[in-house]
Amino acid sequence: MAALVWPIDADAPDLSRLQEAAKLLHRGKLVVFPTETVYGLGAHAFDRQAVQRIFTVKGRPASNPLIVHIASPAQLDQVASGCPPLARRLAEQFWPGPLTIILKKNLIVPEITTAGLDSVAIRMPNNDIALDIIKESGIPIAAPSANLSGKPSATNAQDAFLDLNGKVPLIIDGGQCKIGLESTVINIISEPYTILREGYITKEDIEEAIKKKIEIYKEN
Ligand code: AMP
Ligand code: MG
Repeated sequence: MAALVWPIDADAPDLSRLQEAAKLLHRGKLVVFPTETVYGLGAHAFDRQAVQRIFTVKGRPASNPLIVHIASPAQLDQVASGCPPLARRLAEQFWPGPLTIILKKNLIVPEITTAGLDSVAIRMPNNDIALDIIKESGIPIAAPSANLSGKPSATNAQDAFLDLNGKVPLIIDGGQCKIGLESTVINIISEPYTILREGYITKEDIEEAIKKKIEIYKEN
């Protein structure tokens, strides 16, 4: 089936349409939506079958864990287990925004979402359409970029459509992504805290905020 494409004005969003999108997600369907970094291919993060659909549709290796998106820092405890004060400080400083924080996962997060790891990647995006959809759905949303695996990350709805039409029921078109670059990923489970992926937020930005040295992960 061809994907529905709903243009949404970020400055005056049609809440009834965003509620429809949220309902689809709640029912285990996939929805493409904008964030400030890239477009996301979203699914109910706690629904194994829904998350499996993400991997199937993208052709994404099962070994590549997903980022779980939340609508407020208060939702951290839904996804993480024993959320440390540092996570809340980072959230205060950088959320909503392009920083993904790796924490110990809550048992409710299925292994498929984290590719079998006992940690989970969490982010609160800085895009009102994304935030409204997540809030209305009432659940955390797992979402990698809305493109086929190995292809460039989609930063507008047209590119997401070219890759995913026929494979997803709904694409929310919220225009061009403001940043257009992936989030920075930081692991704060144990010291030294490590940046796993450098994105829009720099190592120096984080060091300045937490007054601590961090390392950049390098594969041996
Ligand atoms: P993307 O494909 O852009 O959604 O990227 C997700 C990134 O977050 C990838 O680099 C993943 O390897 C990384 N990631 C997600 N979850 C974890 C985790 N639990 N531990 C380490 N890295 C993770
Ligand atoms: Mg990607």
